[in-house]
Amino acid sequence: MLIRSAFLIQNGSLLKDIDILIEGNRISEVGRDLRPNDDEVIDARNMLAVPGLVNSHTHLAMTLLRGYADDMELIPWLRDKIWPLEARLRPSDIRAGVRLGCLELIRFGVTCYNDMYYFMDETAAVTREMGIRGVLSGVLFDMRPELLDDVEPFIKKWRDDDLIKPAVGPHAVYTCSEETLLRAREISERYDVKIHIHLSETRDEVDTFVNQRRMTPVEFLESLGFLSERVVAAHCVWLTPRDMRILAERHVNVAHCPISNLKLASGIAPVATLIEQGVNVCLGTDGASSNNNLDIFEEMKVAAVVQKCAAGRPAILPADAVWRMATENAYRAFSLDIGIRPGALADLALINIKRPWFTPETSMLSHLVYSMAGGVCWTICNGRVLMRDGVIEGEEKILEEAQRSYERLISEE
Ligand SMILES: [Zn+2]
Repeated sequence: MLIRSAFLIQNGSLLKDIDILIEGNRISEVGRDLRPNDDEVIDARNMLAVPGLVNSHTHLAMTLLRGYADDMELIPWLRDKIWPLEARLRPSDIRAGVRLGCLELIRFGVTCYNDMYYFMDETAAVTREMGIRGVLSGVLFDMRPELLDDVEPFIKKWRDDDLIKPAVGPHAVYTCSEETLLRAREISERYDVKIHIHLSETRDEVDTFVNQRRMTPVEFLESLGFLSERVVAAHCVWLTPRDMRILAERHVNVAHCPISNLKLASGIAPVATLIEQGVNVCLGTDGASSNNNLDIFEEMKVAAVVQKCAAGRPAILPADAVWRMATENAYRAFSLDIGIRPGALADLALINIKRPWFTPETSMLSHLVYSMAGGVCWTICNGRVLMRDGVIEGEEKILEEAQRSYERLISEE
Protein backbone atom coordinates (compact mmCIF):
# COMPACT_ATOMS: atom_id res chain seq x y z
CA MET A 1 0.00 0.00 0.00
CA LEU A 2 1.30 3.47 -0.85
CA ILE A 3 0.12 6.72 0.72
CA ARG A 4 1.04 9.36 -1.81
CA SER A 5 1.92 13.03 -1.23
CA ALA A 6 0.85 13.48 2.38
CA PHE A 7 1.78 16.28 4.75
CA LEU A 8 3.89 15.15 7.70
CA ILE A 9 4.99 16.90 10.86
CA GLN A 10 8.66 16.25 11.57
CA ASN A 11 10.54 17.94 14.39
CA GLY A 12 7.89 20.64 14.51
CA SER A 13 7.96 21.54 10.81
CA LEU A 14 5.42 20.64 8.17
CA LEU A 15 6.79 18.59 5.27
CA LYS A 16 4.88 18.24 2.00
CA ASP A 17 4.62 15.53 -0.65
CA ILE A 18 5.72 12.69 1.59
CA ASP A 19 5.03 9.14 0.48
CA ILE A 20 4.53 6.34 2.99
CA LEU A 21 4.99 2.77 1.84
CA ILE A 22 3.32 0.00 3.84
CA GLU A 23 4.27 -3.64 3.54
CA GLY A 24 2.17 -6.09 5.50
CA ASN A 25 1.56 -4.61 8.93
CA ARG A 26 4.58 -2.27 8.94
CA ILE A 27 5.78 0.92 7.32
CA SER A 28 8.66 0.01 5.05
CA GLU A 29 9.66 3.42 3.68
CA VAL A 30 8.96 7.12 4.18
CA GLY A 31 10.24 9.52 1.54
CA ARG A 32 9.57 11.20 -1.79
CA ASP A 33 8.58 9.62 -5.10
CA LEU A 34 8.27 6.09 -3.79
CA ARG A 35 7.09 3.36 -6.11
CA PRO A 36 3.81 1.57 -5.26
CA ASN A 37 4.14 -2.06 -4.20
CA ASP A 38 0.55 -3.03 -5.13
CA ASP A 39 -2.77 -1.59 -6.40
CA GLU A 40 -3.62 0.26 -3.20
CA VAL A 41 -2.45 3.85 -3.77
CA ILE A 42 -4.05 6.49 -1.53
CA ASP A 43 -4.04 10.05 -2.84
CA ALA A 44 -3.17 12.04 0.28
CA ARG A 45 -2.51 15.44 -1.33
CA ASN A 46 -4.71 17.34 1.14
CA MET A 47 -4.04 15.07 4.06
CA LEU A 48 -1.82 15.24 7.10
CA ALA A 49 -0.48 11.84 8.15
CA VAL A 50 -0.33 11.34 11.92
CA PRO A 51 0.63 8.21 13.86
CA GLY A 52 -2.26 6.25 15.41
CA LEU A 53 -3.61 7.92 18.55
CA VAL A 54 -4.11 6.07 21.83
CA ASN A 55 -7.00 6.30 24.29
CA SER A 56 -5.28 5.27 27.52
CA HIS A 57 -8.31 4.83 29.76
CA THR A 58 -11.82 3.86 28.80
CA HIS A 59 -14.61 1.35 29.32
CA LEU A 60 -15.63 0.92 25.72
CA ALA A 61 -18.93 -0.93 26.11
CA MET A 62 -20.19 2.02 28.15
CA THR A 63 -20.90 3.74 24.85
CA LEU A 64 -24.29 2.03 25.33
CA LEU A 65 -24.79 4.20 28.42
CA ARG A 66 -24.02 7.45 26.61
CA GLY A 67 -26.47 10.14 27.71
CA TYR A 68 -28.36 7.66 29.86
CA ALA A 69 -27.64 9.42 33.16
CA ASP A 70 -26.05 12.86 33.12
CA ASP A 71 -25.86 15.76 35.53
CA MET A 72 -26.10 13.69 38.73
CA GLU A 73 -24.10 13.49 41.94
CA LEU A 74 -21.44 10.78 41.74
CA ILE A 75 -22.82 8.29 44.28
CA PRO A 76 -26.50 8.38 43.18
CA TRP A 77 -25.27 8.29 39.58
CA LEU A 78 -23.39 5.04 40.21
CA ARG A 79 -25.80 3.47 42.74
CA ASP A 80 -29.14 4.28 41.10
CA LYS A 81 -28.29 4.33 37.40
CA ILE A 82 -24.94 2.91 36.23
CA TRP A 83 -24.51 -0.16 38.46
CA PRO A 84 -28.11 -1.46 38.10
CA LEU A 85 -27.90 -1.13 34.32
CA GLU A 86 -24.46 -2.78 34.23
CA ALA A 87 -25.89 -5.70 36.19
CA ARG A 88 -28.25 -6.34 33.25
CA LEU A 89 -25.55 -6.34 30.57
CA ARG A 90 -25.36 -9.53 28.51
CA PRO A 91 -22.51 -10.64 26.26
CA SER A 92 -24.53 -9.46 23.24
CA ASP A 93 -24.73 -5.95 24.75
CA ILE A 94 -20.99 -5.93 25.28
CA ARG A 95 -20.46 -6.86 21.65
CA ALA A 96 -22.82 -4.09 20.53
CA GLY A 97 -21.21 -1.50 22.83
CA VAL A 98 -17.64 -2.42 21.93
CA ARG A 99 -18.46 -2.32 18.20
CA LEU A 100 -19.97 1.12 18.66
CA GLY A 101 -16.93 2.21 20.67
CA CYS A 102 -14.45 0.91 18.08
CA LEU A 103 -16.41 2.70 15.37
CA GLU A 104 -16.03 5.94 17.28
CA LEU A 105 -12.33 5.42 18.03
CA ILE A 106 -11.65 4.72 14.35
CA ARG A 107 -13.48 7.96 13.42
CA PHE A 108 -11.02 9.86 15.64
CA GLY A 109 -7.90 8.14 14.31
CA VAL A 110 -7.38 6.04 17.45
CA THR A 111 -5.68 2.71 16.77
CA CYS A 112 -5.22 1.48 20.34
CA TYR A 113 -7.27 1.74 23.53
CA ASN A 114 -6.77 0.65 27.12
CA ASP A 115 -9.93 -0.83 28.60
CA MET A 116 -11.20 -2.29 31.87
CA TYR A 117 -14.66 -3.83 31.95
CA TYR A 118 -16.72 -7.02 31.98
CA PHE A 119 -16.88 -9.84 29.38
CA MET A 120 -13.36 -9.27 28.11
CA ASP A 121 -13.39 -12.29 25.84
CA GLU A 122 -16.25 -10.76 23.85
CA THR A 123 -14.48 -7.39 23.95
CA ALA A 124 -11.28 -8.90 22.58
CA ALA A 125 -13.06 -10.79 19.80
CA VAL A 126 -14.98 -7.70 18.63
CA THR A 127 -11.91 -5.45 18.87
CA ARG A 128 -10.01 -7.88 16.65
CA GLU A 129 -12.85 -8.03 14.18
CA MET A 130 -13.01 -4.19 14.07
CA GLY A 131 -9.24 -4.20 13.49
CA ILE A 132 -7.86 -1.98 16.23
CA ARG A 133 -5.55 -2.70 19.15
CA GLY A 134 -6.85 -3.22 22.66
CA VAL A 135 -5.01 -3.47 25.96
CA LEU A 136 -7.77 -5.29 27.77
CA SER A 137 -8.35 -6.18 31.39
CA GLY A 138 -11.37 -7.74 33.02
CA VAL A 139 -12.33 -5.57 35.99
CA LEU A 140 -11.68 -7.07 39.45
CA PHE A 141 -13.87 -6.23 42.45
CA ASP A 142 -13.88 -8.07 45.79
CA MET A 143 -17.69 -7.96 45.63
CA ARG A 144 -17.40 -10.45 42.76
CA PRO A 145 -14.49 -12.76 43.63
CA GLU A 146 -15.31 -15.11 40.72
CA LEU A 147 -13.98 -12.48 38.27
CA LEU A 148 -10.45 -13.36 39.37
CA ASP A 149 -10.86 -16.86 37.91
CA ASP A 150 -11.12 -15.46 34.39
CA VAL A 151 -7.88 -13.48 34.47
CA GLU A 152 -5.30 -16.15 33.70
CA PRO A 153 -7.32 -18.05 31.07
CA PHE A 154 -7.94 -14.70 29.34
CA ILE A 155 -4.24 -13.82 29.37
CA LYS A 156 -3.26 -17.26 28.07
CA LYS A 157 -5.83 -17.14 25.31
CA TRP A 158 -4.89 -13.69 23.96
CA ARG A 159 -1.22 -13.09 24.82
CA ASP A 160 0.10 -14.08 21.40
CA ASP A 161 -2.46 -12.08 19.45
CA ASP A 162 -1.07 -9.31 17.25
CA LEU A 163 -3.81 -6.78 18.16
CA ILE A 164 -4.86 -7.71 21.68
CA LYS A 165 -2.66 -7.23 24.74
CA PRO A 166 -4.31 -8.85 27.75
CA ALA A 167 -3.78 -7.14 31.11
CA VAL A 168 -4.94 -7.28 34.75
CA GLY A 169 -7.52 -4.76 36.00
CA PRO A 170 -7.97 -4.43 39.76
CA HIS A 171 -10.63 -1.70 39.90
CA ALA A 172 -9.22 0.49 42.72
CA VAL A 173 -7.78 0.36 46.25
CA TYR A 174 -11.21 0.91 47.83
CA THR A 175 -12.87 -1.97 45.94
CA CYS A 176 -10.01 -4.52 46.02
CA SER A 177 -8.42 -6.06 49.11
CA GLU A 178 -4.71 -6.20 49.69
CA GLU A 179 -4.87 -9.86 48.70
CA THR A 180 -6.51 -9.10 45.33
CA LEU A 181 -4.02 -6.32 44.62
CA LEU A 182 -1.09 -8.60 45.41
CA ARG A 183 -2.56 -11.33 43.24
CA ALA A 184 -2.92 -8.85 40.38
CA ARG A 185 0.69 -7.79 40.78
CA GLU A 186 1.85 -11.39 40.85
CA ILE A 187 -0.09 -12.25 37.67
CA SER A 188 1.25 -9.18 35.88
CA GLU A 189 4.81 -10.17 36.77
CA ARG A 190 4.36 -13.80 35.83
CA TYR A 191 2.90 -13.06 32.40
CA ASP A 192 4.63 -9.72 31.89
CA VAL A 193 1.36 -7.85 31.29
CA LYS A 194 0.15 -4.38 32.26
CA ILE A 195 -1.91 -3.56 35.35
CA HIS A 196 -4.76 -1.11 34.83
CA ILE A 197 -6.19 0.54 37.96
CA HIS A 198 -8.21 3.63 38.98
CA LEU A 199 -6.20 5.69 41.44
CA SER A 200 -7.07 8.68 43.64
CA GLU A 201 -9.93 9.87 41.46
CA THR A 202 -12.12 11.69 43.99
CA ARG A 203 -11.35 13.62 47.14
CA ASP A 204 -13.86 11.60 49.19
CA GLU A 205 -12.31 8.32 48.17
CA VAL A 206 -8.83 9.52 49.18
CA ASP A 207 -9.99 11.14 52.46
CA THR A 208 -11.88 8.01 53.51
CA PHE A 209 -8.89 5.83 52.69
CA VAL A 210 -6.46 8.07 54.60
CA ASN A 211 -8.79 8.08 57.64
CA GLN A 212 -8.94 4.30 57.67
CA ARG A 213 -5.37 3.43 56.79
CA ARG A 214 -3.34 6.47 57.79
CA MET A 215 -1.74 6.54 54.37
CA THR A 216 -2.71 7.70 50.88
CA PRO A 217 -3.76 5.18 48.19
CA VAL A 218 -0.41 5.75 46.44
CA GLU A 219 1.56 5.17 49.67
CA PHE A 220 -0.52 2.05 50.29
CA LEU A 221 0.24 0.63 46.83
CA GLU A 222 3.90 1.51 47.35
CA SER A 223 3.90 -0.38 50.66
CA LEU A 224 2.61 -3.47 48.80
CA GLY A 225 5.36 -3.24 46.18
CA PHE A 226 2.55 -2.87 43.62
CA LEU A 227 3.89 0.13 41.69
CA SER A 228 6.10 -0.31 38.63
CA GLU A 229 6.37 0.62 34.95
CA ARG A 230 3.73 -2.06 34.31
CA VAL A 231 1.07 0.02 36.08
CA VAL A 232 -1.26 2.36 34.20
CA ALA A 233 -3.09 4.41 36.80
CA ALA A 234 -6.18 6.28 35.65
CA HIS A 235 -7.10 9.72 36.99
CA CYS A 236 -4.56 10.51 39.79
CA VAL A 237 -6.43 13.70 40.64
CA TRP A 238 -5.81 13.89 44.39
CA LEU A 239 -2.08 13.42 44.97
CA THR A 240 0.27 14.69 47.65
CA PRO A 241 3.77 15.87 46.69
CA ARG A 242 5.03 12.59 48.18
CA ASP A 243 2.56 10.60 46.02
CA MET A 244 3.92 12.33 42.93
CA ARG A 245 7.51 11.52 43.86
CA ILE A 246 6.57 7.86 44.38
CA LEU A 247 4.80 7.66 40.99
CA ALA A 248 7.87 9.19 39.32
CA GLU A 249 10.34 6.92 41.13
CA ARG A 250 8.36 3.79 40.27
CA HIS A 251 7.87 4.82 36.62
CA VAL A 252 4.11 4.49 36.89
CA ASN A 253 2.15 5.57 33.80
CA VAL A 254 -0.72 7.95 34.49
CA ALA A 255 -3.82 8.09 32.28
CA HIS A 256 -5.22 11.59 32.61
CA CYS A 257 -8.98 11.91 31.88
CA PRO A 258 -9.76 15.62 32.18
CA ILE A 259 -13.29 15.70 30.74
CA SER A 260 -14.57 12.88 32.94
CA ASN A 261 -12.91 14.53 35.97
CA LEU A 262 -14.58 17.84 35.13
CA LYS A 263 -18.01 16.37 34.32
CA LEU A 264 -18.11 14.33 37.54
CA ALA A 265 -16.66 17.31 39.43
CA SER A 266 -13.82 15.12 40.69
CA GLY A 267 -11.20 17.83 40.37
CA ILE A 268 -8.19 18.79 38.27
CA ALA A 269 -5.23 16.42 38.21
CA PRO A 270 -1.81 18.01 38.82
CA VAL A 271 -0.65 17.00 35.35
CA ALA A 272 1.84 19.78 34.72
CA THR A 273 3.60 18.96 38.02
CA LEU A 274 3.55 15.23 37.27
CA ILE A 275 5.20 15.86 33.91
CA GLU A 276 7.79 18.17 35.52
CA GLN A 277 8.62 15.36 37.93
CA GLY A 278 9.18 12.97 35.05
CA VAL A 279 5.96 10.91 35.25
CA ASN A 280 4.82 9.45 31.93
CA VAL A 281 1.34 10.97 31.48
CA CYS A 282 -1.04 9.65 28.81
CA LEU A 283 -4.56 10.69 27.90
CA GLY A 284 -7.89 8.88 28.15
CA THR A 285 -11.55 9.70 27.67
CA ASP A 286 -12.87 7.35 30.38
CA GLY A 287 -16.22 5.70 29.58
CA ALA A 288 -18.82 7.41 27.41
CA SER A 289 -21.14 7.62 30.40
CA SER A 290 -18.97 10.37 31.90
CA ASN A 291 -17.51 12.15 28.87
CA ASN A 292 -19.72 11.55 26.68
CA ASN A 293 -17.70 10.84 23.55
CA LEU A 294 -14.37 9.21 22.72
CA ASP A 295 -12.93 12.24 20.91
CA ILE A 296 -9.26 12.18 21.85
CA PHE A 297 -8.71 15.57 20.12
CA GLU A 298 -11.28 17.25 22.34
CA GLU A 299 -9.58 15.58 25.31
CA MET A 300 -6.23 17.11 24.28
CA LYS A 301 -7.67 20.60 24.07
CA VAL A 302 -9.45 20.36 27.41
CA ALA A 303 -6.33 18.87 29.07
CA ALA A 304 -4.26 21.84 27.91
CA VAL A 305 -6.67 24.69 28.61
CA VAL A 306 -7.71 23.42 32.05
CA GLN A 307 -4.10 23.06 33.22
CA LYS A 308 -3.31 26.56 32.04
CA CYS A 309 -6.28 28.09 33.81
CA ALA A 310 -5.82 26.08 37.02
CA ALA A 311 -2.16 27.12 37.27
CA GLY A 312 -2.78 30.69 36.09
CA ARG A 313 0.04 30.10 33.61
CA PRO A 314 -0.86 30.02 29.91
CA ALA A 315 2.61 28.71 29.03
CA ILE A 316 2.26 25.35 30.77
CA LEU A 317 1.28 22.16 28.98
CA PRO A 318 1.95 23.42 25.44
CA ALA A 319 0.47 21.78 22.34
CA ASP A 320 3.44 19.48 21.69
CA ALA A 321 3.37 18.14 25.27
CA VAL A 322 -0.33 17.37 25.12
CA TRP A 323 0.05 15.78 21.67
CA ARG A 324 2.71 13.46 23.13
CA MET A 325 0.23 12.39 25.83
CA ALA A 326 -2.03 10.93 23.14
CA THR A 327 0.85 9.43 21.12
CA GLU A 328 4.48 8.82 22.22
CA ASN A 329 3.82 8.67 25.97
CA ALA A 330 1.13 6.07 25.38
CA TYR A 331 3.38 4.09 23.00
CA ARG A 332 5.90 3.92 25.86
CA ALA A 333 3.24 2.97 28.45
CA PHE A 334 1.85 0.12 26.33
CA SER A 335 5.09 -0.89 24.57
CA LEU A 336 3.77 -0.04 21.09
CA ASP A 337 6.14 0.35 18.17
CA ILE A 338 4.16 3.14 16.46
CA GLY A 339 5.39 6.19 14.54
CA ILE A 340 5.63 7.33 10.94
CA ARG A 341 9.05 5.85 10.23
CA PRO A 342 10.39 2.77 8.48
CA GLY A 343 10.00 -0.38 10.55
CA ALA A 344 7.16 0.90 12.74
CA LEU A 345 3.73 -0.69 12.84
CA ALA A 346 1.46 0.69 10.13
CA ASP A 347 -0.93 2.48 12.52
CA LEU A 348 -1.83 5.91 11.25
CA ALA A 349 -4.56 8.34 10.37
CA LEU A 350 -4.93 10.75 7.47
CA ILE A 351 -6.58 14.06 8.31
CA ASN A 352 -7.96 16.39 5.66
CA ILE A 353 -6.35 19.75 6.44
CA LYS A 354 -8.17 21.70 3.75
CA ARG A 355 -10.68 22.74 6.37
CA PRO A 356 -11.24 26.12 8.07
CA TRP A 357 -9.76 24.97 11.40
CA PHE A 358 -6.47 23.96 9.78
CA THR A 359 -6.09 27.24 7.89
CA PRO A 360 -3.75 29.10 7.68
CA GLU A 361 -0.91 26.61 7.78
CA THR A 362 0.85 28.01 10.82
CA SER A 363 1.55 25.33 13.40
CA MET A 364 -0.20 22.08 12.57
CA LEU A 365 0.41 20.71 16.07
CA SER A 366 -1.35 23.73 17.48
CA HIS A 367 -4.27 23.18 15.07
CA LEU A 368 -4.51 19.50 16.02
CA VAL A 369 -4.71 20.33 19.72
CA TYR A 370 -6.58 23.64 19.86
CA SER A 371 -8.55 24.00 16.67
CA MET A 372 -9.38 20.56 15.25
CA ALA A 373 -13.10 20.08 14.63
CA GLY A 374 -13.07 16.97 12.49
CA GLY A 375 -11.36 15.78 9.35
CA VAL A 376 -9.99 12.30 10.06
CA CYS A 377 -10.72 10.56 6.74
CA TRP A 378 -8.57 7.44 6.80
CA THR A 379 -7.61 5.23 9.70
CA ILE A 380 -5.17 2.40 9.15
CA CYS A 381 -4.21 -0.10 11.85
CA ASN A 382 -1.71 -2.93 11.53
CA GLY A 383 -1.58 -2.27 7.78
CA ARG A 384 -5.34 -2.64 7.31
CA VAL A 385 -7.58 0.22 6.15
CA LEU A 386 -10.39 0.58 8.73
CA MET A 387 -11.84 3.85 7.48
CA ARG A 388 -11.62 4.59 3.79
CA ASP A 389 -12.19 8.22 2.84
CA GLY A 390 -14.70 8.65 5.66
CA VAL A 391 -16.45 5.32 5.20
CA ILE A 392 -16.34 2.47 7.72
CA GLU A 393 -17.83 -0.76 6.49
CA GLY A 394 -20.93 -1.88 8.39
CA GLU A 395 -21.37 1.39 10.28
CA GLU A 396 -25.14 1.57 9.86
CA LYS A 397 -25.62 -1.95 11.17
CA ILE A 398 -23.44 -1.23 14.20
CA LEU A 399 -25.50 1.85 15.08
CA GLU A 400 -28.75 -0.10 14.77
CA GLU A 401 -27.42 -2.96 16.88
CA ALA A 402 -26.35 -0.52 19.64
CA GLN A 403 -29.77 1.14 19.60
CA ARG A 404 -31.50 -2.24 19.97
CA SER A 405 -29.26 -3.23 22.90
CA TYR A 406 -29.95 0.06 24.63
CA GLU A 407 -33.71 -0.28 24.18
CA ARG A 408 -33.69 -3.76 25.68
CA LEU A 409 -31.61 -2.63 28.67
CA ILE A 410 -34.02 0.25 29.32
CA SER A 411 -37.12 -1.90 28.89
CA GLU A 412 -35.91 -4.11 31.76
CA GLU A 413 -35.67 -1.18 34.18
ZN1 LIG B 1 -12.67 4.64 34.53
